[in-house]
Amino acid sequence: MTKTNTLFKTLDANTTVLTPNRRLSATLHKRYQQYQLEQQQWCWQTPDILPVSSWIQRLYNDYTSQQFALAPLLLNAAQEQFLWEKIVLHAKESEQLLQVSETADIAKSAWNLLKQWNIDINQSLFHCAEDYATFLRWATAFEKQCQENNWVDVATLPTMLLAKIKQGHIALSKHIVLIGFTEHSPQLRELLKQCEQSGCSINIIDTLSNDETLLNRRLSLLDAEKEMLTIARFAKSTLEKNKTATIGCVIPSLEKVRDRAMQIFSDVLGDDNLFNISAGKNLARYPLINTALQLLGLHKKTIALEPLHYLLASPFLGEAEAERIKRCLFDGTLRQANVTHLDLRDSALLTKHCPHLARRLRQFFARLDEQKNALTYTEWANLFNELLSTLGWPGERSLSSEEYQVVESWLKLLADFTSFDQMAAPTSLQQALYTLQKMAAKTIFQAQTPEAPIQVLGILEAAALPFDYLWIAGMDDASWPPQPKPNPFIPKRLQRELNMPHATPERELMFCQLLLAQFKQSANTLIFSHAEKNGELDLQASPLIRHVPSIHPDELNLDVYLTPSERLYQTKCIETLVDDIAPVVDANENIRGGVNILKQQALCPFKAFAECRLHAHELESPLPGLRSKDRGNIIHKVMELLWNKLDNQAALIALSREQQNKLLDEVIDLALTSTIHSRSDYTQYLSLEKQRLHQLISEWLEGEKERPPFHVLTSEKAAQIKLGQLTLSIRIDRIDALDDGKKLIIDYKTGKNNDINSWFSERPEEPQLPLYSLVDEQNTVGISFAQVASGEHCFKGISRYSLDIKGVKLLSEIKKATVVSWPEQLIQWKSALEKLSADFYQGMAKVDPSDADQTCLWCALKPLCRINEEGPA
Ligand code: SF4
Repeated sequence: MTKTNTLFKTLDANTTVLTPNRRLSATLHKRYQQYQLEQQQWCWQTPDILPVSSWIQRLYNDYTSQQFALAPLLLNAAQEQFLWEKIVLHAKESEQLLQVSETADIAKSAWNLLKQWNIDINQSLFHCAEDYATFLRWATAFEKQCQENNWVDVATLPTMLLAKIKQGHIALSKHIVLIGFTEHSPQLRELLKQCEQSGCSINIIDTLSNDETLLNRRLSLLDAEKEMLTIARFAKSTLEKNKTATIGCVIPSLEKVRDRAMQIFSDVLGDDNLFNISAGKNLARYPLINTALQLLGLHKKTIALEPLHYLLASPFLGEAEAERIKRCLFDGTLRQANVTHLDLRDSALLTKHCPHLARRLRQFFARLDEQKNALTYTEWANLFNELLSTLGWPGERSLSSEEYQVVESWLKLLADFTSFDQMAAPTSLQQALYTLQKMAAKTIFQAQTPEAPIQVLGILEAAALPFDYLWIAGMDDASWPPQPKPNPFIPKRLQRELNMPHATPERELMFCQLLLAQFKQSANTLIFSHAEKNGELDLQASPLIRHVPSIHPDELNLDVYLTPSERLYQTKCIETLVDDIAPVVDANENIRGGVNILKQQALCPFKAFAECRLHAHELESPLPGLRSKDRGNIIHKVMELLWNKLDNQAALIALSREQQNKLLDEVIDLALTSTIHSRSDYTQYLSLEKQRLHQLISEWLEGEKERPPFHVLTSEKAAQIKLGQLTLSIRIDRIDALDDGKKLIIDYKTGKNNDINSWFSERPEEPQLPLYSLVDEQNTVGISFAQVASGEHCFKGISRYSLDIKGVKLLSEIKKATVVSWPEQLIQWKSALEKLSADFYQGMAKVDPSDADQTCLWCALKPLCRINEEGPA
């Protein structure tokens, strides 16, 4: 008969079984059910098996339910945290603290340790250092507040109950069995001793397995990632061989790598119902709750664009489905305009783009504006609920099972929030919201999932749990046993003398040895593993497992692991479909791009098709200040305004330095105010930008003065040009009339890498100037970039004959040019550009970048064109 069955046989209504955690209680209940079924029983009394923390709470409930006198109020976890934070925040030391909440956490954990180890706080050791003395003041304040208000905290409760048991106020079970405890705190020991003295028998069982492990092995793997992957593969392969096996996968610090572990196990097993991960995430990290908190945060006057983008895309708002496209487009509009903050109370813009959202926000602000005074926490909780439902939270679509549980957890959080009324006065909106956010960030939530054969656990949760197979990872010499970590608020000497948790290396060693002994009795097959490297650090097996026979990972005989994409690829049945021709451009089609169409067609036909016909663009990210394209537009505007005033070079040369400066200031001011960036919150920034522009253009104009005489015929002239079937809208930056009346066409560039060689390939990647040269073939004698870039001002162009402008070369000097005469070059450009135009018009949309490395490098269309998936057929 197994140890478990022996235990189950003795269970009756007078026996209570206590476990260190909920998971072991649940396992015992499940095993008891199997045991009864094996005994051919069809109904039975549920055994009294529960975690020790629940038992203590039950003793308290039993006691209070029988008392006529006012029993002390048991603080819940949120109330305790609230009280500690309040004490730390109002302490004189708080001015020097950067992280009040985290400090309160450590103080709370020090208080719990003091209680569990029955330490009298009023001893001289607490006066020997400033930190201890500070904690002593906080702990005294905590104790005083509890006494004055008739509160009791969870850590003090066992001591209180002990006295009540002694006085005979609490009825106990006749038998108490403790299972799976690695150790008992002095406080628990005393409580159990008192139970014994009150007539209760106590029985302690270390583990439920009978024998030592049958197979015990250790192995090393390259790093922690490889280790996790191998565990998942082992679990899969074991389960395939033995469908009823129970498999425990222990990953120390699981809470830190939870998401990655989830991903690896999900990838390897291919079925999320086969495994269960014990670690949860804090509630605020769940999108539903994050959205709720962000929505409540809208009470501020403006919202930064980042959270607004998040809300516009969130499905957890009213009409999120119905208004989805409008919200996406509004998002795109704001990004394009580089707006960094939006005033949501000024709803005209929002009403225009997203009328439903605007209506809900109006109602939200109207309700919020009614609320000026401080409210109790219960009133705030009600108002928060009302505000969220005004905004349509949690959205229109049906919630998944996990989301449903998250909402339930949120409601529980709000219920805990209302309990602060028992300990705090009415408060402001900001304080109430801050408290709620903190609570959500500290509440760990894990959705309940169906029973699974593979359990992924943290190390303490796994202690004493019975498995068929158990794999313990992270057993390297740097982590096991871990470094001691005494609590900073309890005198170290005290912790050492009392052998408190994490106090000394010896204490850590002893605890690890106890855990290992438990693990050895928990499974038939036990595997320890460790990583060989952690970054640069070389690791070896922990001395505590070096006696275990080692094996090579290959001896596990695991199937070769394939990533999900490799698995998919393996099941391929390739049908080749050449699909690089789109429909011919329709006369009514909305094509965007002007001359940019030719540029994109030259770079990559698919890019031109996607951007100019499908209007597929990368979403822009708002940046503070001016983006480089804004700077480029401003330069164009300044130049246009400047030459509209000056008209020719002679007028420029005739200006005195003061006159030129004055003129420049005028046109720069005008250019800036005519852009969206002339915003009042950028005043200081724009004044610096003005200085920069003034300097930049002053330097540029010195070069203009040295050129042979010219006058500016047009600036930023819009025109249309017909090229094959396409009629393209163009805007020529500038056309100069030279002394002989001929024309030089200029294109401003604010970047530095302008290469005229790109004009001479079959697919000219900078086709603007070659195209503009065809507008007036007879009179155009040169085309040139005007590179307005600090320290590298120059012209880069070509001409029919020498124009005596530095940087503008003769066609014959260009090595890449295949013809020498200007008319021939114009014919060549015309033919190349007409081909690009015809290809685009005919729907030529081949994934064919002109230079796969360079052209694709910054292109955002990779998920659409799937060039990275292109392989040999
Ligand atoms: S990523 Fe490359 S191949 Fe794909 S559309 Fe862009 S340029 Fe073309």
